[in-house]
Amino acid sequence: MFAQVIVDIAHSQVDKIFEYSCPDNLKAGSRVKVPFGGREIDGFVIGVSRTSAYPAEKIKPVSEVFDEPNAIIDECLSLMQSISSRYRVPKAAALRLFLPSEMRLGKVREVFKRYAVYTGAEVKLSASAKKQKEAFEFISANGEWAYADLCDKFGRGAVDALADKGVIKAEKRKLTRSPFSGLPEGGAEKVLTPAQKTALESIESSEKRVHLIHGVTGSGKTEIYLNVIAREIERGKTAIFLVPEISLTPQMLSQLRARFGGAAAILHSGLSAGERFDEWWRLRSGEAKIAIGARSAIFAPLENIGAIIIDEEHDSSYSSESAPRYSAAEVALMRAEYNGAKLILGSATPSVESYVKAKDGVYNLITLTERINKKPLPEIIIADMRKEVKRGNNTAFSQALREELDQTLKCGNQAIIFLNRRGYSRTVMCRDCGYVAKCENCDVTLTYHSEENCLKCHYCGAKYHMLSSCPECGGKHVLYSGTGTQKVVSDLKTLFPKARILRMDNDTVSGKDGHYKILKQFGERQADILVGTQMIAKGHDFPSVTLVGILDADMSLHFSDYRSGERTFQLITQVSGRSGRADDKGKVVLQTCSPENYILRYAVKYDYSSFFENEISIRKATLFPPYSLICRVMVTSESQEAALEALKGVYFDIEKLRANNHGQFIFMNKMHSPVKRIQGKHRFQVLMRLAGAQVLEQIYDVAVRYSSGSVLVYVEENPTNLS
Ligand code: ADP
Ligand code: ZN
Repeated sequence: MFAQVIVDIAHSQVDKIFEYSCPDNLKAGSRVKVPFGGREIDGFVIGVSRTSAYPAEKIKPVSEVFDEPNAIIDECLSLMQSISSRYRVPKAAALRLFLPSEMRLGKVREVFKRYAVYTGAEVKLSASAKKQKEAFEFISANGEWAYADLCDKFGRGAVDALADKGVIKAEKRKLTRSPFSGLPEGGAEKVLTPAQKTALESIESSEKRVHLIHGVTGSGKTEIYLNVIAREIERGKTAIFLVPEISLTPQMLSQLRARFGGAAAILHSGLSAGERFDEWWRLRSGEAKIAIGARSAIFAPLENIGAIIIDEEHDSSYSSESAPRYSAAEVALMRAEYNGAKLILGSATPSVESYVKAKDGVYNLITLTERINKKPLPEIIIADMRKEVKRGNNTAFSQALREELDQTLKCGNQAIIFLNRRGYSRTVMCRDCGYVAKCENCDVTLTYHSEENCLKCHYCGAKYHMLSSCPECGGKHVLYSGTGTQKVVSDLKTLFPKARILRMDNDTVSGKDGHYKILKQFGERQADILVGTQMIAKGHDFPSVTLVGILDADMSLHFSDYRSGERTFQLITQVSGRSGRADDKGKVVLQTCSPENYILRYAVKYDYSSFFENEISIRKATLFPPYSLICRVMVTSESQEAALEALKGVYFDIEKLRANNHGQFIFMNKMHSPVKRIQGKHRFQVLMRLAGAQVLEQIYDVAVRYSSGSVLVYVEENPTNLS
């Protein structure tokens, strides 16, 4: 037999398949050691065959087959091929998605511990062997004990002597390193509400592959997911549960553990290497049947999947922004189809793309309009920051928010202050009247570029002069970049000297359970106010929070992205959902300089369907996704010359494509990327808006053609970030 092997060399460009001769029973997916370039390295068998195209004398034998179940299951082997061809990444790179890195590099192995096990053998112990007797009594009473500990207690000589006599036998056992073992118990199983029952029945009976649960925050979606999983487990199947943010995994894991015990395993980039390795093998060996984690958990080594759940499906973290640039939802669909499994998407604010599919009947749409126990959604109050500026209030807090905070603290409740900070982009917005500078061609907000002192449209590359005053009202405060966390915290300390304040953002969160620790502290009420960025917006359930302050609704509203309206609506709904989850009614104060903006108007009323109708008609009129596909071919290189040379070629070839595909190109241009250099690499791009995916594959071909050792050319589809 012959094995096709991908050798795993860290940092190497080797993406060839090598052939070795191998034992007859070798299975595709196995891990092997092979001779390669004069040394032995690890490899993965991606296929086996009876014959080989190479001459026999050129083929070397596999040197070692790992004694373990095949690491890569058949489905993942085929998925690897699909991912490699769909996103044009080398097979070795696609393969890496399926394996914990510590396994590939052979740095971590299983940890074994020796146990002494009582055999029940009858022996005579001489009266003088006091220690042996003691050890004998101990082990016969306990049945088994860690060998080393037993030696510590009774002396190595005595224990070894018992082993020699056959009273005990030594047994090597695999130790499992278990992450988050100190998690609090999750809640018990609940009696389902009629709405939850209906949702479950619909998921069970619908013939459709994909189910979209559109349920307001606090409508009990989690309980539906858990029941779907329970049903699949009963059927002998497995499940994958994706959450958008790793900080949310411990919370979900404790619920899963309460329900399913050790059948739940966590795949989490923040785990220690050993933990990750063990959790991965628990899934692969079938001991664990439910994988929970962020985006990359979609590659869990589970067979026989019955359901895949993507919670907060609208979240942008489900698309990878670095190579391989895959979409977890797309991979989830591939896996669901392969296994005949259900794919369940859930959100209080589904993405426009998903909701269109649900409305068109492609997805099974399930709507939950009420919170559990008919609890009201928190009231959202708009604070007009233009008036605050006029009144001479230069703090980050409006009068309304200050009063509400005061009230909340007096009642002994907790508050969350949310700072809406996205990247470092700055826009022109008049603090006096709310005017925002937009592109005349594209209707998206312009971004300020300080090095050229100009405004640019990231969608068409148009440049505009920087404004020194507002064209609407003549106001002078036009450049806008939001407030930092530090200023917010210091303002808060001045306003409420007695309040205990916790801060959570990228600067304060570090380590594997950094998020978890801060959230836990806040959950245990060790603080009154939590100040944070995007990472506190999602999914957390803090019963004592009755007030949420959103400081800069405008930051995302005027972000230069065609999705800025959608993102803002999602964010406001998500953040507001953190308020008033238990008995006390919640409130939200939303600060903005554009109080009449329609997105904010709909968000305040939780009116998703009006928001959606409005948004989709704009997308249709302006030809933005889902009525088009935004495609960017990036050309980057340390050498500007080489990059420009490649860019010319790329543009030329795409221009040819355009000539041959009438109507497919709505827009196309080549230009410097908005950020011209990152880490010493010059960045250029061909930016396109396509009518559909018809020419996409050929665009990938072009990118592959011009990629070389010194120039990196890659394709982005509907990128989240156009900088
Ligand atoms: P969502 O994910 O839709 O925002 P959750 O699943 O977090 O909502 O549920 C909101 C709250 O309602 C949680 O505290 C949850 O424990 C509770 N809950 C969910 N289902 C039920 C039920 N059937 N009976 C009682 N409480 C429930
Ligand atoms: Zn434009």
